[in-house]
Amino acid sequence: AKNQGKGRFSVYTSAMDQRGAEQARVAADLRTALDTGQLHLVYQPIVDITDGSLYGVEALVRWNHPERGPISPAEFIPAAERTGLIVPLGAWILAEACTQAARWQFELGPDAPAIVSVNVSARQLREAGFAADVAAVLHRTGLPAHRLTIEVTETAVFDGGTAVETLHALKALGVAVALDDFGTGHSSLGLLRTCPVDLLKVDKSFVDTVTHGGEHAVIAAALIDISNGLHLRAVAEGVETPEQAAELRRLGYRYAQGYHYARPLLPADLERHALRRPAH
Ligand code: C2E
Ligand code: CA
Ligand code: CA
Ligand code: CA
Repeated sequence: AKNQGKGRFSVYTSAMDQRGAEQARVAADLRTALDTGQLHLVYQPIVDITDGSLYGVEALVRWNHPERGPISPAEFIPAAERTGLIVPLGAWILAEACTQAARWQFELGPDAPAIVSVNVSARQLREAGFAADVAAVLHRTGLPAHRLTIEVTETAVFDGGTAVETLHALKALGVAVALDDFGTGHSSLGLLRTCPVDLLKVDKSFVDTVTHGGEHAVIAAALIDISNGLHLRAVAEGVETPEQAAELRRLGYRYAQGYHYARPLLPADLERHALRRPAH
C-alpha cells in the first residue's frame, strides 16, 4: 500500500509539473499576444426579458493564436492569473471595453447598451490602486462611471485582504459591482451583508434545471426573492432555451443572458443587434 501511495504521488507531481509547464508556455505566448494584438473582446447582450430590449453587455476576451487557433479564456485566464500577467492583461481589457462602450454611447445614443460589465480577477482586485486605475480609465475614455459594472467572483472577494475596501472605492466612484457565478461559492449569502454589491449573476447551473419542475427551480426562485428583498438586480446566466426564458420571467427575473438571446458578438454585430427592434 505504501508503494502504491508513493507511485500515485509521483504520477500526481509529474502531472502537476506538466500542467505547470503548459501554463508557463501559455503565459509566455500570451505576453506576445498582448503585445502584438492577437487579443480582442466580444460582447454578449444582457437582455431586459420583460420587453426584449438590450440592457447591457458583458465583455469577454478572445485569443486567436496564430498556430493553435482560438484558445478559450477558461484555459488562458487561469494561466494569466497564476503568472501575474492578468494584471496588464486585465488593464488592457478594462481600457478596451470602456473605450468601446464610450464610442457606442456617442454613436448609438439611446440604442447603446446602458452598461458594460467587465470581469476582474482576484489578482487584479488585490492590486493596490486598482480603483484609482479604474477612475483613470473612466476619465481617459469619457465613459460615465454608472455605465461600468465590475464582475467579481465570491472567491475573489473572500480572498480577504483589501478586496472589500476596493469594492467600496469602486462604489464611491459610481461603478456598480456584480457577484459572478452567484451561488456556486462557499459563502454567497454571507457576502451580501459584508460586500457592497449591486447585482447578482445567478449561475448557469441554477438556470439549467429551472424547467425541470419541483425542487430543481427552488434555488433560482429563492435567489430572485433575495435580490428583490435586498434591492439588487439579478441577471440569470446561460439561458439556452425559450422554456428556460419563460420560466425565469414567470419567477420574476428581469435580466438574462445566454445563447437563447445572443452569443457574445463582435462590436459590429452588437451594433446591428442594438439597432434592431426588440422581439417581444
Ligand atoms: P463567465 O464570466 O462566467 O462568463 C460566461 C461564460 O459563459 C462565457 O464563456 C460565455 O461565452 C458563456 N456563455 C454565455 N451564454 C451561454 C450559454 O447560453 N450557454 C453556455 N454554455 N455558455 C454561455 P467564455 O467567454 O468562454 O469565458 C469563460 C470564463 O473565462 C468566464 O466565465 C470568465 O470567468 C473568464 N473570462 C472571460 N473573459 C474574461 C475577461 O475579460 N477577464 C477575466 N478576468 N476573465 C474572463
Ligand atoms: Ca462574468
Ligand atoms: Ca458567470
Ligand atoms: Ca464562470
